[in-house]
Amino acid sequence: MEFVSTRGQDRTPIERALSLGLASDGGLFLPMQWPRLRPDDFEGADTTPRIAERLLQSFFADSIFAADFGALCDQAFTVQTPLKPLRDGQTSILELFHGPSGAFKDVGANFLATMLAHLNRGATRDTTILVATSGDTGSAVATAFYRRPGFRVIILFPDGRVSARQAHLLSCFGDNIQTLRVAGSFDDCQAMAKAALADQTLVQALNMTSANSISLGRLLPQMSYYAEAALRYFRAHGEPLNVVIPSGNLGNALACLIARQIGLPIGRVLISTNANAVLANYVHTGNYQAAPTKATIANAMDVGAPSNIERLIYLAKHDPSILRDLDSVSVPDDAICARIQAFYQTYGEIICPHTATAAEMLAQRRAAGDHAHYAVVATAHPAKFADVVEPLLGLSVPIPECLKPWLARPAQAAQIGVGLDALKAALGP
Ligand SMILES: *Cc1c(COP(=O)(O)O)cnc(C)c1O
Repeated sequence: MEFVSTRGQDRTPIERALSLGLASDGGLFLPMQWPRLRPDDFEGADTTPRIAERLLQSFFADSIFAADFGALCDQAFTVQTPLKPLRDGQTSILELFHGPSGAFKDVGANFLATMLAHLNRGATRDTTILVATSGDTGSAVATAFYRRPGFRVIILFPDGRVSARQAHLLSCFGDNIQTLRVAGSFDDCQAMAKAALADQTLVQALNMTSANSISLGRLLPQMSYYAEAALRYFRAHGEPLNVVIPSGNLGNALACLIARQIGLPIGRVLISTNANAVLANYVHTGNYQAAPTKATIANAMDVGAPSNIERLIYLAKHDPSILRDLDSVSVPDDAICARIQAFYQTYGEIICPHTATAAEMLAQRRAAGDHAHYAVVATAHPAKFADVVEPLLGLSVPIPECLKPWLARPAQAAQIGVGLDALKAALGP
């Protein structure tokens, strides 16, 4: 299958789309055709890798991945994403945080790493992956590439603007992972990564690419947990699954909308954001207007210009039905805090500040009389945000097994200033 840029000037096979990240015209890659699948097409597919294989195989047909695609799915889809019913009987929680860095981004990062490693078999030069992170992306990419031969990862994170646990996780790797604390904001980090990736001398010297959330190699696999949860729910109840998804760059929620378009039994899609309300404004007015980023306690969603909105606008232009049964609400910090407390009181479940935006959006729907079944999508383990959650609940959040080995290691990250020159100096000759 071929892939085309949202800006129309770049068409390419999957191999190049995966290794480039961004299209050469500045757009984002999308498949030329979408498969149409019915729940019956997944008969006999009962495990995460098998469901993912059926869902994704058409995108990888005729590629270097095709012959081994089943085995690659076995390697890539190792994270469990259980759909847990809560005690009110009308709400479930889709837990996407059981991967090695405790956030949903592990699924996409591990798939991308698996595919790039397959693509680079026999390569004579190391590939450098440069990633700017507002908190969770960096550790997901780091765990996915940690000690993978042929890869080096450089992480830029804004010093002092991530949670204490996030900072520790980002800085605990060493080996082929180099972490740099930037004395600036996430936007500064992103600008530095962009400048580095636009510097052809540097790109050639380091054989450098990126792994940010616009990569198709992260977007496509994120459909798999929606497919799996929706199929399991449909098989048990004969109804589509409604979901509420916390969103920042719209990678996670867009994957769900696409899975629904492909034919998975997904019903309403509610998308919550933190105080950065760009998406809610777009959904309500049809106009997209980027805004300066506001810092919030759900920091992995602090996005004023969601990168995947370009994909959504492109898809909606070709088929407006992608926007059906869709809503979005912006949730400020005080409502996040109150919802973390209320959710714990109601369900006995501890949720992270990002997940709380979804829980709050659902609570607003319930108050307005919507009693349908919904799955609240839990995007990170609350232990990553202990500094927010613990004072609110007056308890200590147990650290999950997946995070323990990392947090037991010493943290080490060099601090650098803002700008490409500072980054170049840190990268060495
Ligand atoms: C990245 C992240 C989000 C936002 O995901 P997008 O795909 O950027 O919309 C939400 N919650 C957590 C915990 C995250 O790490």
